[in-house]
Amino acid sequence: MGDSYIGRKVCGCVVAATSISGQNPTEVANDVADFIRSGLTIEKVTSEYVRLNFKGCPHDKQGKFEA
Ligand SMILES: [Zn+2]
Repeated sequence: MGDSYIGRKVCGCVVAATSISGQNPTEVANDVADFIRSGLTIEKVTSEYVRLNFKGCPHDKQGKFEA
């Protein structure tokens, strides 16, 4: 359990996620920077939210990547 950052596309889909707890802060920052470069909106959510909502984007076949 813990918090994560997600990257949300303009269509509303969660296409990226990185765990905050248990990860080196530098890696978390790098992941978030990648999300921003990909044009995603960053949100801080619970790991439970990630589990339920991180399903990729059916609107764009190339939209999903994992960090
Ligand atoms: Zn989508």
